[in-house]
Amino acid sequence: MDIRKKITELKRERNAVIVAHYYAPPEVQDVADFLGDSLGLSRIAAGTDAETIVFGGVHFMAETAAIISPEKKVYAPAPDAGCSLADSVDAASLRKWKKEHPGGIVVSYVNTTAAVKAETDYCCTSANAVKVVESLPEGCEILFGPDRNLGAHIMKTTGRRMSLWDGVCTVHDVITPGMIREAAERYPDADILVHPEASCSSSEDILSGDNIFFYSTAGMLAHARKSEKKRFVIATETDTLHQLKKENPGKIFIPVSPGIVCREMKKVTLDGILGCLEKGEGEIRLEAGLRERALLPIRRMLEIG
Ligand code: SF4
Repeated sequence: MDIRKKITELKRERNAVIVAHYYAPPEVQDVADFLGDSLGLSRIAAGTDAETIVFGGVHFMAETAAIISPEKKVYAPAPDAGCSLADSVDAASLRKWKKEHPGGIVVSYVNTTAAVKAETDYCCTSANAVKVVESLPEGCEILFGPDRNLGAHIMKTTGRRMSLWDGVCTVHDVITPGMIREAAERYPDADILVHPEASCSSSEDILSGDNIFFYSTAGMLAHARKSEKKRFVIATETDTLHQLKKENPGKIFIPVSPGIVCREMKKVTLDGILGCLEKGEGEIRLEAGLRERALLPIRRMLEIG
């Protein structure tokens, strides 16, 4: 039987929902019930009646779904798929950083392990990071991690000073100011949509302007949907183009470089999804106390809106 049909049948039998990140391979995106970015998907999956969530993303994403949905079984089709950001900080190093900055408020990007979230005061996403930082009392010390590019971009946008953890997304870090300048010259009619994890996002030369916009992946999709422009240069993970093209058949999407590929996300396969549904492989298990502590900074972030 075709693997897609098998997945659909088992999904029904197991009362499962499949969610996939925009960076997952196109064939995985195509079997998903919902597409989105990591926190958005965890929240969508939590709101369904499904008893089982299969999360088409790297490990921290499935773990975040397990933090939010303790009553559901959560599976990762590629449990060994990591993330350079999540791997750049562990709970012990974060505890040490906090000790060096007593009274500092820790804001962690959602791309972190449950153990790091448990040491965090507020979580944030690339879509709401500015809002979260702006909600904190003026004058307080903010320890922002683990993405130094996103952190520097937020400092530039809000004017707030923060201490930054020295981590990067190795995929987005290679997007330089030179690449954006070249794209702007080559495609003057296009909107250029840049992810704030890119190393160019804090450059003084590259500012949000008439045709340059900094967005989370979901923000890029929303922009392309409502824009009257015909061409867009996309400065993020290249498989984001799959959904952009599907949603906007009359528009042209050009990757800023075809080499912006997250190899870890490509470990998510249809075989892996089948393994979760058929054999219960890749189940995420979290100790209840850790889960509760990791949920707290997510709740605080959601209260900010
Ligand atoms: S694209 Fe970057 S942040 Fe996203 S999963 Fe890959 S390494 Fe992590």
